[in-house]
This record gives sequence, C-alpha cells and structure tokens, in this order.
Amino acid sequence: MFKNVSFVILLLKMSLIFGQEPATQKIIIIDVGHGGMDSGAIGINGIQEKDVVLDIALKILRLNEQAEKTLDIYLTRYSDTLISLFDRTKLAKALKADLFISLHCNHSDNPNARGIEVYASRVQGDYSRESVVIGYQTEKILCKRVGYDSRGVKFANFQVLREMNHYCASMLLELGFLSNIDEASYISDSDNIQHIALAILLSIQNQ
Ligand SMILES: [Zn+2]
Repeated sequence: MFKNVSFVILLLKMSLIFGQEPATQKIIIIDVGHGGMDSGAIGINGIQEKDVVLDIALKILRLNEQAEKTLDIYLTRYSDTLISLFDRTKLAKALKADLFISLHCNHSDNPNARGIEVYASRVQGDYSRESVVIGYQTEKILCKRVGYDSRGVKFANFQVLREMNHYCASMLLELGFLSNIDEASYISDSDNIQHIALAILLSIQNQ
C-alpha cells in the first residue's frame, strides 16, 4: 500500500531532475478495456469493468502529469465509448508505441477467485520475449504495492496482444476479480484506484 502518494510523485520528479530519464520519452498506449454498450464484467457490488478501468487509466494520466510527464501516454478511449479491437491496436501502430498495456478486471463463477493476472500473447512475435519480461516485472510490482495475490503471468490468444506482438511489447492486466467481494470493494474506492494507478505507472517507468 502507498502510505504517501505525494512522496512517490516527488521521487518520480527527482528521477527526472537527476537525468535518469531517457532523452526521448517512451510512448505508452493504455488500452482501456470495453466501453459504451460493452460494460465488461459486472461486479458483485454492481460496479462495471468499463468504468473501473477508465478511472484507473485517467488516474495514471493525471499522476504522469503531476510527475512532469515522464512518459508520453495515450489512452485508446478517454470516455465511455466503445472502440473496436482493430482501432485500439491501430493507434499504437500509428504512434509507434514502445509499450501497449490493456487494462481489464476479472470475473469468475467462483466467488473466492482473487488476485492479479498478467497476460502475454501465446502467439510468438518479434516482441514476445520482451513482453514476458515486462509482464513478470509489472506483476511483481503490482502485487507488492497493491497487496493483491499473484496468479502469475499467463499466455492467451487475445487479439490485441497477437496484433501488437509484431510492433512493440504488450501485455494485458486483469486487475483483480469483480466477482470477489473483497476485491470489488477495494477497487470501488477512489483512494485505492489511485494506489493501483500509481503501481502501474511505476512499473511502466521501471521498464
Ligand atoms: Zn475485460
């Protein structure tokens, strides 16, 4: 858990001042899952996946701005709209992104299922190895800082990852189970959204 978010932001700024940042900013695409008529998973407490991931993504943008934009971050959607899977990856290709991260939340019929899953593409591509390494690092940072259980790095044939795999490193994050009462309650709190957003931002900066 972050005891003091402003302290972490100060650290981010200091790393900029002391010249630890690369000369050119990394371009990051955050793919905000679902949207519009596609709500994604519905939480046990009524929250909708499309809203949760948008809140997290917008918070990442704000934190990055507060840290004097150490990264060049773009979202695939900034509001409650539905975007095709094709257009999500098209943006990343057009901007020549360095990293593509798709944000989702999990759901299970088992109410006890919990924890974070990170996915890399099962289909091999030029960036498979890099994606897996970044996936493991991100999962470690997220679980440590947010306090969620780790369900490991997994491989799946998700379209967005399969397409990105030839252009840049990519991963899909399942940020806890909305079907689990503890995790659904946790992620419904705006302070906790900030914790998760900061953990993701830190893990991206660590790459
Ligand atoms: Zn989803």
